[in-house]
Amino acid sequence: MSETPDSLPPLREVVASLGVEAKKSLGQNFLFDLNLTRRIARAADPASAEMIVEVGPGPGGLTRALLAEGARKIVAIERDARCLPALEAIARAYPGRLEIVEGDALEQDYAALFGAARPARVCANLPYNVATPLLTGWIETEPWPPAFDRLVLMFQREVAERIVASPARRADYGRLAVLANWRCETKILFDVSPSAFTPPPKVTSSVVELRPRAAPLACEARALSRVTQAAFGQRRKMLRQSLKSISRDPPALLAAAGIEETRRAEEIDVAGFVALARAFKSG
Ligand code: SAM
Repeated sequence: MSETPDSLPPLREVVASLGVEAKKSLGQNFLFDLNLTRRIARAADPASAEMIVEVGPGPGGLTRALLAEGARKIVAIERDARCLPALEAIARAYPGRLEIVEGDALEQDYAALFGAARPARVCANLPYNVATPLLTGWIETEPWPPAFDRLVLMFQREVAERIVASPARRADYGRLAVLANWRCETKILFDVSPSAFTPPPKVTSSVVELRPRAAPLACEARALSRVTQAAFGQRRKMLRQSLKSISRDPPALLAAAGIEETRRAEEIDVAGFVALARAFKSG
């Protein structure tokens, strides 16, 4: 029987028939609520993108929503082979629009996946155990601006708050916020309660949007990564102390960046860290 979007069985049935019991080790919390998957898909506005990369499609709830909302081409990267038959059925229902990559999302060459597609977008209900390294990988992409013009990603709310934080919200402000807001405009779009997932996770989730800045303050991603790692590694200490792990002369480094040596990491905004990264690079 040839498949069409309307002939695809309900997701709960798909998961039951495949015997796909959610694995905690793979961060599997599935979404079956069509209103919710549609809401996430719409935030990515798939019809206006040339291609969408989806990480961890699982049985394909969000994938179906992206296709129904007009995605022209999706590349979906899934590590769990048990989900592949469900994804292949979706691919048959939307001929030529869904490519399935079986593999680890952490090991993909995203520039090659995006190819010449402009704009590309990433939309995903991320597996929580690899969400942060995936995000930092996309943010540290070279060259910049990247192929993607938007990332629409679901995280645990605590991680979402760390992405959008500023020095005014000290408890959440750290390396992730500096890297993310240096190169992107970030915002939390909406929260999703644990009860929306099967099985329900312990914590609330949030959908975050990141839009690349066309011209972020100039500095090297690697230098910024190193200075923020050192500074926030000992976030309660003064910078003249915490930067000892990367510099023999932290006071000189801080002076070159125009930052008082008695300040702490959580008081320094993105522009301050960029100045520090530049001084570190040239020092
Ligand atoms: N998108 C589906 C949904 O919303 O119902 C599933 C989301 S679930 C939170 C995360 C998915 O990522 C799972 O299907 C899991 O198998 C997959 N996954 C986990 N680690 C992965 C990795 N390193 N690379 C690719 N997929 C991974």
